[in-house]
Amino acid sequence: TTPGGPKVSEEKILVTVRVRPLSPKELAAYDLIAWDCTDENTIVSRNLNHERHTGPYKFDKVFDPACSTQKVYEEGARDVALSALNGINATIFAYGQTSSGKTFTMRGIAENAVRDIYEHIKSCLERDFSLKLSALEIYNETVVDLLNRESGSLRLLDDPEARTIVDKLTEEVVKDGQHLRHLIGICEAQRQVGETALNDKSSRSHQIIRLTIESSLRENSGRVRSFLASLSLVDLAGSERASQTRADGTKLKEGSHINRSLLTLTTVIRKLSGGKRSHIPYRDSKLTRILQPSLGGNARTAIICTMSPALSHVEQSRNTLLFATSAK
Ligand code: ADP
Ligand code: MG
Repeated sequence: TTPGGPKVSEEKILVTVRVRPLSPKELAAYDLIAWDCTDENTIVSRNLNHERHTGPYKFDKVFDPACSTQKVYEEGARDVALSALNGINATIFAYGQTSSGKTFTMRGIAENAVRDIYEHIKSCLERDFSLKLSALEIYNETVVDLLNRESGSLRLLDDPEARTIVDKLTEEVVKDGQHLRHLIGICEAQRQVGETALNDKSSRSHQIIRLTIESSLRENSGRVRSFLASLSLVDLAGSERASQTRADGTKLKEGSHINRSLLTLTTVIRKLSGGKRSHIPYRDSKLTRILQPSLGGNARTAIICTMSPALSHVEQSRNTLLFATSAK
């Protein structure tokens, strides 16, 4: 363990699945529940009329519709989030089709992580901490600063060590937990901008909230040890944009709806978890360039796959489970 750091598991990739409750719309349409969470690791499709029976699919955890976001945080994200206090870069993603619960889940994860991180900082008397927040949105491969929309489209630059830097991105110094919650609230409000004019914007855009945590520890010898890492909280575009397959299983003709950043991310994650020493195409999209230091290598990743329980979405949910399987 790291001196003055939280005890966390060293698992590199944590893949979990969260099934939301049927929505009021699905209930009103007499939609059926198409999936059973048979134990805390397993989900299987129900054998309904003409549906192909698939599964069982197994993951690090499967959260049924009754699970609270706090439980999802504790069992599917906490260890990854707190790694950032130990100097290890961490990323938490929500992946799933539009309206499957990504934003709902990430909000709760952010709240829980902020509380947990500050509880740790308060109890850790051996170290001094300083935190910074930045936040951006990627829409159609355009990067926008969520803490300063006025700066328009931001460029990506490479620093001398070949790391990608988002040029002119605001970094706010965070004073305390309340300030951090306030800043995250601003990012969320900024993300709504343009939402009504472009009604499928949230299904196409990615949001990254990045918390950079620096700390220093004075050891008994008098030597000072420092830690630096970031925690990235990522609310992805709808997963229906990761493939040419429509919800009903038929193929789309044009590729315009495909989201380059999402497609590249799924390729990167598959290759990372495949473990072969193949070329990882980080540079093929803005999202993967920005996240590169927080993926692979020594980084920790939590992928929370969200899905609707409804029969009407069974094909997209199956795609999500296939992605989740390939990520592990
Ligand atoms: P997405 O971001 O994937 O498009 P949302 O997070 O916006 O989906 O969720 C769609 C709707 O479902 C929202 O009204 C949200 O409040 C609700 N919802 C999502 N997940 C849950 C859940 N686990 N429990 C209750 N309501 C949920
Ligand atoms: Mg959303």
